[in-house]
This record gives sequence, C-alpha cells and structure tokens, in this order.
Amino acid sequence: MQSSPMHPILVCGAGGFIGTHLVHRLKSDGYWVRGVDLKSPEFGGSVADEFVIADLRDPIVCRDVIDRPFAEVYQLAADMGGAGYLFSGDNDAEVMRNSALINLNMVKECSRAGVQKLFYASSACVYPEYNQIDPDNPNCAEESVYPAEPDSEYGWEKLFSERLYSAYTRNHGLVVYIGRFHNIFGPLCSWIGGREKVPAAICRKVAEAENNAEIEIWGDGCQTRSFLYIEECLEAMLRLVNSNFRGPINIGSTEMISINELAMLIAAIAGKQIQIKNIPGPIGVRGRNSDNNLIRSKLGWAPSETLRRGLEQTYPWILEQVIARRAA
Ligand code: NAD
Repeated sequence: MQSSPMHPILVCGAGGFIGTHLVHRLKSDGYWVRGVDLKSPEFGGSVADEFVIADLRDPIVCRDVIDRPFAEVYQLAADMGGAGYLFSGDNDAEVMRNSALINLNMVKECSRAGVQKLFYASSACVYPEYNQIDPDNPNCAEESVYPAEPDSEYGWEKLFSERLYSAYTRNHGLVVYIGRFHNIFGPLCSWIGGREKVPAAICRKVAEAENNAEIEIWGDGCQTRSFLYIEECLEAMLRLVNSNFRGPINIGSTEMISINELAMLIAAIAGKQIQIKNIPGPIGVRGRNSDNNLIRSKLGWAPSETLRRGLEQTYPWILEQVIARRAA
C-alpha cells in the first residue's frame, strides 16, 4: 500500500498507548495518517503525517478535525487509566462525562462527514459483574453482556457508547466496528503516575525492588485476568476492520492468570526473588478472561504468543524507564 491522502486515516487518542502503536503500524503499512489527542505521545514523537493537539470534547474542534470523509477512523480517545484510576470511584464523574462527550461528538461528525469505516475501542469492563465473581470461571462471551451490570462507571460509559454507535449504524448507515479490549500491555504504556495498569505497575515495582524485597499487590492477589500484547491487539483490530463482521467482539487473550502469579512471573523474567505483600486496594471484578470463540470463528484470529513472551518485551522497557528516572 502506498501512502496516499486518497485513503486518509484518522486516529483519535493517537498520543496514548494503543494509539501510538497503531499510528506506527498504519504508517509502516503505507497509509496517510492524521493523529489527534490532547497531548503528544509521551515517549518520543508521533510518526503521523499530521498530529493535531485538540480536545475532542469540543464539538467545533471535532468538526474541524473530521474535515473529510476519512476511509477509516479509529476512535481510541477516552479518559482512561488502570484500577487505581477507574475503580477507586474518585474519577467516575469525569470519566463518564469526558468520554461520553468525545463519543457523542465523534459519532455525529463521522456521520456528517461520510466517514467510510469507524472502529470504536470498547472494553471488557462492559461485562456484568455477576458473571465475574468466580475467579476460575468468569464468563465474558459477547452475548453475555445483557442484562447489563458493569462494575464500574467506565464500563457503563463504554456500553452506552457501543449503543450510541450502533444506533447511528441503524439510523444513519454509519459503518462501525466495535472491539472489546481485554487488558492490553506493552512498551510505551503508562507505567507511573496513577493511570498505569497492572502489568506495568508490577513491572515497575519489580524493577524498583531489591532482591528478596516485598512488593505490594492490591487485594488478595487471587483475582484473575488475561492480558494481550499490543502487537497482537493491533493485528486483531485491523483484521476486524478489514472483515465483513462488525462486532462487538472480544480482543483479548484466554491465558488467564492470578495477579499474584503475574507478579511471580514478572519477577522470574527480571531474575529477582520477591515477596508479595497483599494490601487493600481497588481491584475491579474477581475474575475476568477473554472468550475468543467468536473472534476465532469470524476472523480466524487467536494470539500467536504467550503472556510470558509479551512480558519479556515489556519488562526491559519499564526497567529502562525506572533507571532513566533515577538518573534524572
Ligand atoms: P490511553 O489513556 O493511553 O489513550 C487514550 C488517549 O485519549 C490519551 O492519550 C488521552 O490524552 C486521549 N484523550 C483523552 N481525552 C481526550 C480528549 N478530550 N480529546 C482528545 N484526546 C483525548 O489509553 P489506551 O490504553 O491507549 O486505550 C485506548 C482506548 O482503548 C481507550 O478508549 C480505552 O478505553 C480502550 N481500552 C484500553 C484497554 C487497555 O488495556 N489499554 C482496555 C480496554 C479498553
């Protein structure tokens, strides 16, 4: 594919973790890309052809950014963070308002401008809490999302926006693809400051720990999750947008692990002994795992690498950040 303004792509949230990687992937695939975000990518610049610093909560700004019938729009912009940010309850009002405003503006302007395809980044947080109580047997099959009972306001906003985009498909013919991401991780993610997610937070704690030191893990550590490496996520997302299936569909891994086990795995990769100290903290649901039956059957996709392999690529990057910060 040759870079061509005839096939322009817009990435919203292009300064964030997944957005930064997506812009890289689209550029290396040869596309012309405009990125938009409140901020530039934190680690190095963007390789987008144009990078617009803009607030998508503002409808006029949103209209200016969507100034043509983009071939593809990836809507990743959201008020986002890890458990400490999303599940403490302290940020609920802002999370709901900020992300809902972005999506309300985006759907209207994409529809008005005649955007050909829109991808919306939803989340595993849409799934009902009542199916995620047993840490060994969570149910996150796509159709289990109703009757709805997400355990966070972040999840409720994602579900509302899924419905909003789907309503624009029904009433205005907007072509929308919805992926429900399950804990994406990798280099260039938030790793400090309160918005980091669990793999990055544990990598940082292990990188900072002396050998045999204690590291703190929120909850009893028996809560379970699965994690998907960023490159796998991009592959699944792009396959979806190039398919005839529109979702909603899980984009995740089925390699479920408890958080204490995750800490031990990261310590093993780091070559360190650690002691785990479980402390009270926001943990979200008790168990969660991606159900990949639908994506396997519709897109023929499954992750190609293990969790360990992804962590072996992520831990050294976080270690570098920790060392650079100490030296600064
Ligand atoms: P991120 O926080 O790194 O990226 C989101 C970006 O949106 C940030 O750069 C932020 O500045 C930008 N943004 C926020 N408000 C904005 C506004 N008003 N105008 C313009 N830009 C704004 O998060 P991420 O991990 O890259 O996630 C990308 C998307 O995927 C989000 O929608 C998130 O909810 C969803 N998701 C991510 C995960 C995950 O594990 N990373 C899991 C489920 C869903």
